[in-house]
Amino acid sequence: MGHYDVAIVGAGPVGSFCALAHAQRGARVALLEANLKASRRLAGEWLHPPAVDALRNAGVPLQDHPGSSVGKGFVVFPEGEERPISLPYRAGPFGLTCDHATIVSELRGAVVNEPAIDFICSARVRTVEARELTFSQQGATHALSAGRIIGADGRASVVRQSLGLPTRRMTCSRMVGVLLKGVSLPFAGYGHVILGAPGPILMYDLGGRSVRVMADVPVERWEPQNRMALLEQCYAPLLPLALREAFVEAVRERRVVVAANEIRPRTSYGTADRVLIGDAAGNYHPMTAVGLTLGFGDALALAEGGDFEAFVAGRTRATRAPELLALGLYEVFADHRAESVSLRQTVYRRWRASPAVRTRTVAMLACEDTSAGRLGVTLAGLVARAVASAIPRALGRGTFSEGKPLPLARPCGRVGSSAGAELLSARAEGSSLALPQAEGSSSEGKPLAHPRAEGSSGEGKPLAHPRAEGSSHRPSATVRALVLRLAWLARGISLLRNVRKTKDRNGEALVLAALARAFLRSMPVPRCPRDP
Ligand SMILES: Cc1cc2nc3c(=O)[nH]c(=O)nc-3n(C[C@H](O)[C@H](O)[C@H](O)COP(=O)(O)OP(=O)(O)OC[C@H]3O[C@@H](n4cnc5c(N)ncnc54)[C@H](O)[C@@H]3O)c2cc1C
Repeated sequence: MGHYDVAIVGAGPVGSFCALAHAQRGARVALLEANLKASRRLAGEWLHPPAVDALRNAGVPLQDHPGSSVGKGFVVFPEGEERPISLPYRAGPFGLTCDHATIVSELRGAVVNEPAIDFICSARVRTVEARELTFSQQGATHALSAGRIIGADGRASVVRQSLGLPTRRMTCSRMVGVLLKGVSLPFAGYGHVILGAPGPILMYDLGGRSVRVMADVPVERWEPQNRMALLEQCYAPLLPLALREAFVEAVRERRVVVAANEIRPRTSYGTADRVLIGDAAGNYHPMTAVGLTLGFGDALALAEGGDFEAFVAGRTRATRAPELLALGLYEVFADHRAESVSLRQTVYRRWRASPAVRTRTVAMLACEDTSAGRLGVTLAGLVARAVASAIPRALGRGTFSEGKPLPLARPCGRVGSSAGAELLSARAEGSSLALPQAEGSSSEGKPLAHPRAEGSSGEGKPLAHPRAEGSSHRPSATVRALVLRLAWLARGISLLRNVRKTKDRNGEALVLAALARAFLRSMPVPRCPRDP
């Protein structure tokens, strides 16, 4: 049986990076991978600046790869609003985008050139005990031992299972990925976040005039017969004209890849001799694109040494704000209940009014500002502002008065001709493809109503989005829901402060997990365990 300083289970991006980081600091490493083709799936392609830095320092200069593209920040297109909001990274160093399989193969290329790493391919780890593991390879079973076993084996981690930690996985939505070739985005180098469809749409350049479109489809809209019609009718009309035709064509030809978006907050990093990192420790909705950045951070912190308690404390500090931001932003941007719309509009107003808030948001998104206190205060401020602006409306003056549709319910035509849509179409060279009417018949199944067309009569019933089930659009209900959130946030922050005084890291993680769970539970979205 071979013996190593560390044995890493999983040569995905985080495991491969972890192997390099340890070997470059003098450790003898075994890296085991069950399926070399697993990286050819829809997964992380956007790297925030700290991740690009970490790769460069490890001798993987991905920014020089011809398949990569610079990532300068984000541009958000609020639903029904005319001007987009730009959230740039502070001037350099930038982030980057690169096809997921290329990121992994570049890392594995560096791994095989590193003499201190034994890269054991087609090796599926079966059992893990304190400092030993067994794996199967070509029908035979082998064993090895190591001073430390690191689980970088993703969401279905076998190392996690061996620790008896909860393994249940929650799917919050599906991500549909489409790669469009020979097109470009209105704002080169920026991630485009488009709101107004049933779930947010994220688009970014992927090198060589290719654009990746990621459409988030809530689980309750993911129906087998109507998926493609839903994409054509509810997502395509929001895209810039220059991309719309190519997107519809790709959807009709089924050139789409799908991934489940799962959420599992980090509550444990395992033990000193069986450590969990990357997605094995926890994962979030990809909208904030933090999975790789946090995973590389885990690997670096572990490789730099120090005792396990210090590692856990450091990672808890570094990850709780990005984790809460990922959970909170997805809720606020994907939920169509009145209180979330109100919060979302407050976020837009704050972003438009204050460059400092924009800078802080981007620093938090990029995992550069990881202060949970600052995030808590920012969130509390936003909720308080949303309450303050909802109260006068509750008194009958404005869009939240009873019986009127939410702004999201603006008629399709008006939104389509807004200046925002024109800006999006700035580079369009004219599209000849006739898109289906908002309420027209679908090519495969029953007609679908475009969400912006629903309730668009202006006087009829309020917009009935599936996520709005059980929530009332009465103004008093909106105010009550917002006040409840404010109270919930204040209670959470005070709990966190008390737990921090006792220096109980596990307690802190539990409070954070409870906060995250409360956030999720406040969404009346059917969440089901992952498909088998
Ligand atoms: C649709 C989508 C979009 C995303 N977009 C982004 C983004 O833009 N930016 C970002 O930062 N993050 C993004 N993420 C998240 C990101 O992809 C993950 O955080 C990242 O891939 C986690 O890497 P990992 O190495 O921890 O796990 P994985 O990538 O899951 O790798 C685990 C590896 O372990 C191997 N393995 C598993 N079990 C065993 C075993 N028993 N024995 C041996 N090997 C095993 C697997 O084959 C695999 O190679 C996205 C995720 C999704 C689903």
